[in-house]
Amino acid sequence: MDDRPNLYGAGREELARQVAPLDPRPFRARQVFRWLYQRDELAPAAWTDLPLALREQLATRFRFERPAWSGGAQARDGTIKAEVALPGADRVEAVAIPADDRQTFCISSQVGCAFGCRFCMTARLGFRRNLEIGEIVGQVALLRAVTGSPVGEYNIVFMGMGEPLHNFERVRAALALLTDEEGFALPPRRITVSTVGLPGGILGLADLPRPPRLAVSLVTADQALRDELMPVSRRYRLDELGDAIRRFGAGRRERPTLEVVMLAGVNDHPRLAPPLARYARRVGAKVNLIEFNPTPELPYAPAPEERIEHFLRVLANGGVVGTVRRSRGQDAYAACGQLAFLAADAKG
Ligand code: SAH
Repeated sequence: MDDRPNLYGAGREELARQVAPLDPRPFRARQVFRWLYQRDELAPAAWTDLPLALREQLATRFRFERPAWSGGAQARDGTIKAEVALPGADRVEAVAIPADDRQTFCISSQVGCAFGCRFCMTARLGFRRNLEIGEIVGQVALLRAVTGSPVGEYNIVFMGMGEPLHNFERVRAALALLTDEEGFALPPRRITVSTVGLPGGILGLADLPRPPRLAVSLVTADQALRDELMPVSRRYRLDELGDAIRRFGAGRRERPTLEVVMLAGVNDHPRLAPPLARYARRVGAKVNLIEFNPTPELPYAPAPEERIEHFLRVLANGGVVGTVRRSRGQDAYAACGQLAFLAADAKG
């Protein structure tokens, strides 16, 4: 058994603490930090700007391991889904979605999810565990390597498996590594954290020195309907949620996004469009209508195109910016809400 502690995922302070007994000069830990997160070179033997003896001591005492690629699939539209093997039998999925100029990486924050949204496949797994910091940023490193994306030239969305604000401390530490100039060096505006709508976590994000973008999976501005589709809504009501969203956006150039997955005959009725526009205006958000990805396990179907168009018109008339996110990666089971399939299959 390998009982060397794994330092992949350690932040600047933790690395400094671990490296200092071997070499007290502060720049040594910084060099290690850069190798790990900026250069994605995890073998101490290759850290050529460190003395050989120090490299050997580091390798003797520590492991530097990020989660491994354990399989994947590429959809016809170029979307790549990576299965990421974690210690034990757990796996999560991470997806790279190509656009004209750069990739978007959709990453997971938990194995399974505790929130039970009726339209989401991940909910079916239930909650298994939080991801560690290294398991979160490791997905980014893995996708960056697989797609050959240059440092800092991609987007990240926390829209994979799990609820990022339910794993707040580790997600916060991961954001610090991702935005660190000597780490992944990603501008915070290239990172979006998507949440079921936990007001405390939203305010926690707002207080970060360099907050990411915020997206909230609203689904509907009708309280009773939202209660039915997203049990979390009974605990954190639309009013309280709206206050947190407004406070997040206050004084920021970039508006938060409300995500509305469009379910036929459920939340796409024309009478639900004006309240959505009012809510978005009140909280200072834009709206992203999401095409639902059907799966045989779920009793929902995508809303018809004319309903989506109608919502877009009502939003525009109400002075709200509305966009549509078209489904990607369906034939690789890499689409939104499908990130549970393989894990579920593996359990039989
Ligand atoms: N827990 C976070 C992160 C998961 S991302 C959150 O809820 O925001 C989930 C996003 O994918 C949500 O906006 C949700 O509306 C969307 N989604 C879930 N299932 C979907 C499906 N089957 N088709 C399309 N979008 C889906």
